[in-house]
Amino acid sequence: MNKPTTITAQLLAPLVALNSIIMRVTERQGTIVAQRQRIGFITGLLWCCLLIGPMASGAELKALLVTGYDPHGHKWEETTPILEGVLQNNGKFDVEIATLSSAQEAQAFAPDFGKYNVIVMDAHGRDWSAATQDQFERYVNGGGGLVVVHNAVGQFATWSAYRAMIGIGPGGQQDGVGFQFDETTHSVVQIPPGEGVKQNGHGSQHEWVVKSREPEHPIMAGLPLTWMHTADELYHGFRGKPESVKNLKVLATAFSAKETGGTGSHEPVMVVNQFGKGRIFQLMLGHSAGAMSCVGFQAVFLRGTEWAATGKVTPTGVPGDFPSADKSSARPTVNKSS
Ligand SMILES: [Zn+2]
Repeated sequence: MNKPTTITAQLLAPLVALNSIIMRVTERQGTIVAQRQRIGFITGLLWCCLLIGPMASGAELKALLVTGYDPHGHKWEETTPILEGVLQNNGKFDVEIATLSSAQEAQAFAPDFGKYNVIVMDAHGRDWSAATQDQFERYVNGGGGLVVVHNAVGQFATWSAYRAMIGIGPGGQQDGVGFQFDETTHSVVQIPPGEGVKQNGHGSQHEWVVKSREPEHPIMAGLPLTWMHTADELYHGFRGKPESVKNLKVLATAFSAKETGGTGSHEPVMVVNQFGKGRIFQLMLGHSAGAMSCVGFQAVFLRGTEWAATGKVTPTGVPGDFPSADKSSARPTVNKSS
């Protein structure tokens, strides 16, 4: 939070020196009053730009990124800085991080959710207290945004409201309905309880093609319809209670090939859902830092977080290094130290 102050101080120090040099030179040369006024005006303008600049670029939106624990081998220490970097570097978000590494920290977690436009989850967290769960339900129900990345979809398995928020998540055949995309009818179809794969899972990590199924949705609008994702886990067999998925939209799917341990179906990889007035974006991509280095991942994560926070996405065009249909594209990993 003290970044703008630091930047301002760093920028102002050389300017103060420059200003005094200009004024000294001006005095020595006996420059006429009009010139002095002009120089004074220009330096004043510079001062204004530097003072206003850092404040004007201040983020409009506040995000709370919750992380700190994962029992399934997901390296949150590597992935969280990437998510933070994508949001923070964009200039639109001011990101705070809650690192809940122990059960005690998770139980003591009691933020003022109302301070944030969106909560982003990047871990398979331990249980929060009943009071904090209640506050969170009120927050999302009242219009708060929620973004759930990869393994965070599997946390809080017994917290029914959380499962209702994310719509679909890990489960077995009897745990509600599943979703797939049918290429023959070009439509999303629901798999009734008792049908489809017996249990959720994923095959081996490999590169796979993401296909947009809601190209008009603000998160997807303008992006290529098909793009190659860097090597990642491709989840399959997610389930949700029928009453929790009434407003669920499958934004994108990927073909889960049997040869790589998948289902032979087009599985959802991005969905949006509603909980009361709250918007939820679930991004199944993102097993590792490598998966998150995908330009496509970063683009949809940024767009999805803005959408969850505001219901809109500022048009920014397609990144020049966006992956093509047959070639993935990754950016260097963002490190805390860089
Ligand atoms: Zn994973």
